[in-house]
Amino acid sequence: MTRTYLACMLVQRFIVIATVIATLLVQTACTEVSGTGRSQFNILSVDDEIDLGQQAYAEELQVAKKAGHRVLTTGPEHDRVMSVSQRIFDAANRVHPTIARQFSWEMTVIDDPKSVNAWALPGGKSAVFTGLLPVAKTDAELAVVIGHEAAHAIARHGGERMSQQTALNLIMVAGFEFSEADAGTREIVMNALGLGTLAFSRSQESEADHLGLLIAADAGFDPREAIALWQNMAAAGGAAPPEFLSTHPSESTRIQRLHALMPEAMVVWQAAKAAGR
Ligand SMILES: [Zn+2]
Repeated sequence: MTRTYLACMLVQRFIVIATVIATLLVQTACTEVSGTGRSQFNILSVDDEIDLGQQAYAEELQVAKKAGHRVLTTGPEHDRVMSVSQRIFDAANRVHPTIARQFSWEMTVIDDPKSVNAWALPGGKSAVFTGLLPVAKTDAELAVVIGHEAAHAIARHGGERMSQQTALNLIMVAGFEFSEADAGTREIVMNALGLGTLAFSRSQESEADHLGLLIAADAGFDPREAIALWQNMAAAGGAAPPEFLSTHPSESTRIQRLHALMPEAMVVWQAAKAAGR
């Protein structure tokens, strides 16, 4: 047998095993994203995600405290974040009742002026860092960030990422002969897997932008302020980009996408205003 033939056999075997595992997983783990209807591969249940989110929340708050950052319970910064986030959580429950009403939404304000950041964990436990507040200048801008993060939780992106990673690990374990394949073959397969993951992550970001904008609009915040928010974020970058942007890529296409979403968001906002929000 030539070396090329052997490598080909190994890759073929790898692909057969990987396909069987992937088929089994996909058949048992396909869900639909609320609001977009996108078909999603997720082996976690909503309850699993809520449990994981709660554990991670306790850990994250410990990390913040150990780093010397207070959790704010009073004051104008606390009150501002609480009032905006309550409106976002109410809107999330209204727009995505099936998933969002299972969550126990909670917001914590962490006093860390250097951190231009916010997050929402699976299950709705959320945090805003005080460094975000001068960047998200208006309440509508703050609502866009909190809405974007809430949308990640609603669209179950955390569970989806973990499922992809688990599937990837299973496939790699199943294809253990793969380690004997030559470096060139291995690189081709790894690149294919890596590229797939990267593409997915970007689609999660644009899904969160889309769903988050509609949630903010339904809460009564002017969706057009989303454009200013992302411009402020980019301007706050300077030499070292803020944390939020380092995990949330700020392509100029993001602002173009927001412009394209605006007609839909404006309809939602007008309806919210007519309903007194
Ligand atoms: Zn995001």
